Amino acid sequence: MSTPERRAELTQRLAAVRARIDAAMEAAGRTDPVTLVAVTKFFPASDVDLLAELGVTDIGENRDQEASAKVAELAHRDRVTVHFIGQLQSNKAGSVARYADVVHSLDRAKIARALDRAAQREGRVLDVLVQVGLDAAGGRGGVAPEAVRDLADVVGGLEHVRLRGLMAVAPLGEPARPAFARLRGLAETVRADHPAATWLSAGMSGDLEDAVAEGATHLRVGSAILGSRESHR
Ligand SMILES: *Cc1c(COP(=O)(O)O)cnc(C)c1O
Repeated sequence: MSTPERRAELTQRLAAVRARIDAAMEAAGRTDPVTLVAVTKFFPASDVDLLAELGVTDIGENRDQEASAKVAELAHRDRVTVHFIGQLQSNKAGSVARYADVVHSLDRAKIARALDRAAQREGRVLDVLVQVGLDAAGGRGGVAPEAVRDLADVVGGLEHVRLRGLMAVAPLGEPARPAFARLRGLAETVRADHPAATWLSAGMSGDLEDAVAEGATHLRVGSAILGSRESHR
């Protein structure tokens, strides 16, 4: 596909997603800001640059190797905030701390400490979210709801990561809305101890309306903007 064709396609899909978000915000009676994080995993740096030209300010990536190479390639690196949203191993903390501005997927104290040390080495302070596992089986990653406050306290005590809130993926086999409502309740508990933890990262292409209804401040939307990832795997 040529660049003008791709630009036209992204323009159209982005407008449709923004319209969905606006409608959901209106239905929820919300006028506070919401951040659209375009999840560009599997798609090339050229798509990120096109999105930046279309006014996208935040992009999300979930694999360290792919993300570090892609971010290095960007023409418009200065126009986007880079969110790392994938499962994080402590041996990747050093790499992620180099290119990510926000990490959504913190789910262990060991990784929080590794990321803190890595950010210190880079002379940076990273915004981080604690990922909550909303499904009973814990299959989609994240810390168990009953352990969230302890992990938030660990993160809150570190100097080079800044606790900004909670993140979750809707569980499989259960409606998203009540799960996001549980996440919202947890976020309120955490905020009582950590007033700066005001972000709530929830909602993807299929369930962003439910997330907006439950107070999400950050929506992580991939396929509804970029198209199917199947052909890019
Ligand atoms: C891929 C991914 C998304 C985006 O999913 P879509 O359904 O394509 O919108 C959101 N969050 C996480 C953690 C992801 O890995």
